[in-house]
Amino acid sequence: MKPHLIILGAPGSGKGTQAAKLVEKGYKHVSTGDLLRSEIAKGSELGQKVSGIISRGDLVDDSTVMALLKANCNVDKVSYIFDGFPRNIAQAEMLEAELLQGRKTLAVYFKIDLGILIDRVVNRRTCGSCGEIYNLATKPPSVLNVCDKCGANDSLKQRKDDTREVVSNRLKIFANTVDPMLAFYKSRKALVEIDASLAEKEVFSALEKFLE
Ligand code: AMP
Repeated sequence: MKPHLIILGAPGSGKGTQAAKLVEKGYKHVSTGDLLRSEIAKGSELGQKVSGIISRGDLVDDSTVMALLKANCNVDKVSYIFDGFPRNIAQAEMLEAELLQGRKTLAVYFKIDLGILIDRVVNRRTCGSCGEIYNLATKPPSVLNVCDKCGANDSLKQRKDDTREVVSNRLKIFANTVDPMLAFYKSRKALVEIDASLAEKEVFSALEKFLE
């Protein structure tokens, strides 16, 4: 089995876009943000508990997200791409102790200047039908508000937490939490860095090289 991949990167660094491409190589993509948003959409008790936290761009508490993640993956069956988890050193330790437990793992850091990310995220749109990610400035759909991938009409939505104010909070939290996580995986010799400022295709080629 291929190692599990942990993608570390700021909001808008391209984690979701690249993870979707890696799925074609046999990985399973699990995004804690998507899992939480789906709880909100279902109106579950958990969804109601986290909705305000997510709309402010703050972090949901570690054990709640860990429990949700554990309930949604079976790490012995397939190699996972963990997207959005861990978000801090406590979660990195929990992930190892409660789920990965010595299984082969590689953390990939999507390194990028945080200063360019606010505009990137504010321009992000996601297809509500198939999940394809667009950027109105750099990767718009060919026909306004129609998904190129699945053809759904009027389906491109902006996430509620992709507003300028909330994104600045999310970026601040990222900047305050990333270093100890990088040190954690570096000390285990399980960290690689990718230049996430490159074009989507180039980032993917760099990823493929690491994964060969
Ligand atoms: P994302 O889709 O990864 O940008 O996550 C969207 C939001 O979900 C974040 O801003 C947090 O509020 C919440 N969230 C996602 N993953 C985690 C996590 N591992 N720990 C805490 N909160 C999370």
